Amino acid sequence: AKEAGRARMTLYDPAMDADRGERNALELDLRMAIEGGDLQIAYQPLIDAATHEMTGVEALVRWNRPGHGPVSPEVFIPIAETSGLIEALGLFVLRKACETAKQWPELRISVNVSPGQFRNPAFADYVRYVLKQTEIEAKRVTLEVTEGYMIQNPQRTRQAIERLKALGVKVALDDFGSGFSSIGYLRQFGFDRIKIDRSLVMDILESDRQREMLQATVALARSLDIPVTAEGIETEEQAIAVRLFGCDTLQGYFFGRPMPADQITERLMQARA
Ligand code: C2E
Ligand code: CA
Ligand code: CA
Ligand code: CA
Repeated sequence: AKEAGRARMTLYDPAMDADRGERNALELDLRMAIEGGDLQIAYQPLIDAATHEMTGVEALVRWNRPGHGPVSPEVFIPIAETSGLIEALGLFVLRKACETAKQWPELRISVNVSPGQFRNPAFADYVRYVLKQTEIEAKRVTLEVTEGYMIQNPQRTRQAIERLKALGVKVALDDFGSGFSSIGYLRQFGFDRIKIDRSLVMDILESDRQREMLQATVALARSLDIPVTAEGIETEEQAIAVRLFGCDTLQGYFFGRPMPADQITERLMQARA
C-alpha cells in the first residue's frame, strides 16, 4: 500500500503545476511590491478599556496586487517567510510605521514581527537602526511576536527579547491562547504584554466554557503582573465582559477596523476638540 501511495504521488498532476506556477507568480509580484515600496499599512485603534480612548495603533500590512486586488496578509506573509522576502517586508513595515507614528505623539505603535525576522541575530540591530533613523521614542514602540518559534528555540528567544528590551522597546506575545500556549513561557521571556487571540474572545457570551477559558487566561497573566489586550472585540457586550475580566486594552471592529493613517489623524483631532 505504501509503494502504491508513493507511485501515485509521482504521477504527473497538471493542477499541481498550475498551483506552483501561480505561487511563483505571486512571489514575483510580492518581490516587486516590496522593492517598489508598493505595500500599504493600515492602522487599527488600540483602546483603553476604562476610558475608551485610543491610546495606540497596530500596524497591519496591506497589499493590493496589480490585476488581482487585495491579498490577505494571512496568504502573503507565509510566502514572504519561505521565499526570503520577510526581512525586507518587515523592515519596510517597521520603518514606515515608526515614521508615520511620529505625527501621533500621544499614541503607541505596535508592529508585528515574523519568526523569520526574529530568528535573525541582527534583528535587534536593525530595530535600533530604524529607531535612530526615524527618531521615534523607543518606549512608544511595541513589537508583537508569536510563540511558534519560541517553543523550538527558547534560549535564543530569551536573548532576542533581552536585546530588544535593552533598546527600550516593548515586546508583546501575540495570538495568546491560539496554540499550545504555556504560561511558563510568559514568565521566563519577560513579555511586557500579552494579546489574547480573537478565537478565545469570540464566543465568551455564548459559551460558558469559552468564558471560563478566557477568564482563567487573563487571571494567570495578571497574577504575573502582565497587562492584557483582548483582540477581536466586535460588540459592546464583549467589550464590557473582557474589561470585567481584567483586560486593560481592547482591539476590534467594534472600536475601529484597520484604516489608513489619515483616518487615525482625523480621530485624534476629533478626540482633542
Ligand atoms: P494579527 O497580528 O493577530 O492581527 C489582527 C488581525 O485581526 C488583523 O487581520 C485584523 O484586521 C483582524 N481583526 C481585528 N479586529 C477584528 C475583529 O473585531 N474581527 C475580526 N474578524 N478580525 C479582526 P489582518 O490585517 O488580515 O492580518 C492577519 C495577520 O497577518 C495578523 O494577525 C498578523 O499575524 C499578520 N500580519 C499583518 N500585518 C503584518 C506585518 O506587517 N508583519 C507580519 N509579520 N505579519 C503581519
Ligand atoms: Ca498582531
Ligand atoms: Ca493577534
Ligand atoms: Ca492572528
